[in-house]
Amino acid sequence: MNFLDESQIMWRDSVDRMMTDTITREYIRQCDQGREYPYDGYAKLAAADYMRLLIPEENGGHGGTIFDYALMCEGLGKYGFDFATCVLVPTFTAMNIVKFGSEDQQARYLEAFMSGRIRFSISISEPSAGSDAASTRTRAWRDGDHYVIKGQKLWCSGAAARDVVIAMLVRTDPDAPKHKGLSVLLVPNDTPGLEIRRLPTLSRRATGTTEIFIDEARVPVSQLLGREGQGWEIITDHLELERIAVAAAYVGNAQTAVSDALVYAHERVQFDRPIFDFQVIKHMLADMQTHVDAARLLVYRAAELASRHQPCSGEVAMAKLFASETLQTVSRNGMQILGGHSMLPEADMERYFREGMQSTIGGGTSQIQRSIIAKSMTAKVARS
Ligand SMILES: Cc1cc2nc3c(=O)[nH]c(=O)nc-3n(C[C@H](O)[C@H](O)[C@H](O)COP(=O)(O)OP(=O)(O)OC[C@H]3O[C@@H](n4cnc5c(N)ncnc54)[C@H](O)[C@@H]3O)c2cc1C
Repeated sequence: MNFLDESQIMWRDSVDRMMTDTITREYIRQCDQGREYPYDGYAKLAAADYMRLLIPEENGGHGGTIFDYALMCEGLGKYGFDFATCVLVPTFTAMNIVKFGSEDQQARYLEAFMSGRIRFSISISEPSAGSDAASTRTRAWRDGDHYVIKGQKLWCSGAAARDVVIAMLVRTDPDAPKHKGLSVLLVPNDTPGLEIRRLPTLSRRATGTTEIFIDEARVPVSQLLGREGQGWEIITDHLELERIAVAAAYVGNAQTAVSDALVYAHERVQFDRPIFDFQVIKHMLADMQTHVDAARLLVYRAAELASRHQPCSGEVAMAKLFASETLQTVSRNGMQILGGHSMLPEADMERYFREGMQSTIGGGTSQIQRSIIAKSMTAKVARS
């Protein structure tokens, strides 16, 4: 991709060196195998100011563009999407606090986030609220100068780690229309009344994803993000950023799946020749790299449009859809090329394959992305 400018190339290469030399492939594999949150890797990235990239300069950040951020996400996904999520997910809430947070919340949380002392999780989903996220049932009501929360959340990634504040979507007005009665509360994960259980999922084994049982947990009213009733607006405000970020990380992960398969195809000898010499394997690899390059171009287009504050919901959905399906396809083909060896954790391909299986679900399923694309196509026809 030689249309990146010099500073973008330097940034991309510096993230790549950070992953290869400092974080390392072995560390990420070990966290996955042990289902251990990557505290050490997270701390190294925070010390190198990665959390500051997107935060505006007036809030102590570096004021980078969404394109810069996409390049970072691509690099962070290099050895597995799961590792990238431990950095990506907190950033979405940090950006919500930049936009909707009170002065007090910005003072308490932004520098603490950028220096790596606290992280954020996002809790939208519930047992009966998946793609239909606004059907939130978890209730919160005022009691003096506190909110009391009662309900159950599901799939809250990273919530069981140390020093986490959960941005929790709750229903504060059960009588208001579905999307209007929602609010976001910032709930520290050690708040009494929360029971957070890690789930034994196929992927996201290191960052972890959780279910949360909430039995009359209390937080001060100062933990309300934005206004009461503004919850849906806040949550949907970061969705474009989230989808660009995850799509970029899928591309980073997919590229490694292709590169690993290519190396293996050259090294593995059967019938007295490297398996790369068989045309069927060569063509598989050619198709895999073509898919990854196409996914990368879609991500860069979406990130470029978002950096220029252009409307781009359709382009972002295309990037998320194609990049996730690409990770799934190339990791599955990578398994085939690696043969029996692919089944072993040290080959990493089974991890990429597991990441691929969740990538078309988390962050909005492929079916939902297709609906968004169709809607934006219809809107364009109506305008022309
Ligand atoms: C590993 C992992 C981590 C996650 N992390 C988080 C997190 O940190 N915070 C959080 O809040 N959530 C998180 N999620 C939840 C995720 O956002 C949901 O899983 C996702 O939105 C889909 O919801 P669902 O699983 O309930 O599936 P459902 O919505 O029940 O969908 C089931 C199937 O029906 C299809 N479907 C549903 N509605 C439609 C429709 N209108 N048109 C066509 N098809 C439809 C879906 O595409 C899917 O194929 C995570 C999920 C996973 C797997």
